[in-house]
Amino acid sequence: MNFYRSTLCSISVFLISHFLLGCSGEPDVSYDTDGSAEPYKIVCTVGMITDIVGNLAGDYAEVEGIIGEGIDPHLYKPTRGDVIKLSQADVVFYNGLLLEGKMTDVLVGIASKGKLVKAVTEAILEETDYLLEKDDGSAYTDPHVWMDVSGWLRAIPVVAETLAVYDPENTQAYRSKAAVYAEQLEALDAYAKEVMSTIPESQRVLITAHDAFQYLGRAYGIEVRGIQGMSTESEAGVRDLEDLVDFIVERQIPAVFVESSVADKNVRALVEGARARGHDVIIGGSLFSDAMGQAGTYEGTYIGMIDSNVTTITNALGGQAAGFREVVTGE
Ligand SMILES: [Zn+2]
Repeated sequence: MNFYRSTLCSISVFLISHFLLGCSGEPDVSYDTDGSAEPYKIVCTVGMITDIVGNLAGDYAEVEGIIGEGIDPHLYKPTRGDVIKLSQADVVFYNGLLLEGKMTDVLVGIASKGKLVKAVTEAILEETDYLLEKDDGSAYTDPHVWMDVSGWLRAIPVVAETLAVYDPENTQAYRSKAAVYAEQLEALDAYAKEVMSTIPESQRVLITAHDAFQYLGRAYGIEVRGIQGMSTESEAGVRDLEDLVDFIVERQIPAVFVESSVADKNVRALVEGARARGHDVIIGGSLFSDAMGQAGTYEGTYIGMIDSNVTTITNALGGQAAGFREVVTGE
């Protein structure tokens, strides 16, 4: 177990044993279930989590996300306003696996005051062979589990059961909404598997600005190369860029991708580099890696974000994808 992973585990174990569920699955402490008609307050870090929580708890709580459209969670430092929001929330959800690296102190701080603070990846942490770790000595566990829909499905019961701890009266509602949402994600997962298998085998290579797509690659059979590492905190070197240009030219990769929450200068440098060597590679589109699209749009939902990514990648790499929404609505 590496340093980051073990630090994270200590935080989790600390939170779990002190404030959340004990090993037996029984609550260690009882929370104020707030008998008044007022909705309770839930604050989430990234949009992908806000989306799950909104789907399950939207009728009973005010659900607010902190890290919005186009914002990189690896680099995000909570503002004073965020800290106030977090400390006034009744329940807080975050991804964990150090995705919100610069929020750890604040999250640990509010948890130590007895607030219900939950990492939605907690169930995944217990599965020894699910998580991807980088084997380059950087000692980093890959936090981007939402990229594999079957991985993100594991976060849904964590949310439902945490809501049930805070608000036991509505346990059945949380569980049934969780089941409905999970069914939608299962259909999305099946769509992703089906369309990505239409990409010609030699072209199943996804090159992006940072290394956020390894879980997607493993789930849907695509080789993945990111210019920057799993966190955008580290800079890409000139050597990394040159190696990737070699790879693109050798494999005749048709398209590379930019990301909505990461600067695109490195991806543009790859395109220029390959063109200088006589291979025309295009920017196949913009992918949502660590943040969803604009609130209120389809891409501003988890399903829309993944649909957009899968459909964009598949079509740019020579496969055929009509779009999950189009398939579901029959349009
Ligand atoms: Zn990332």
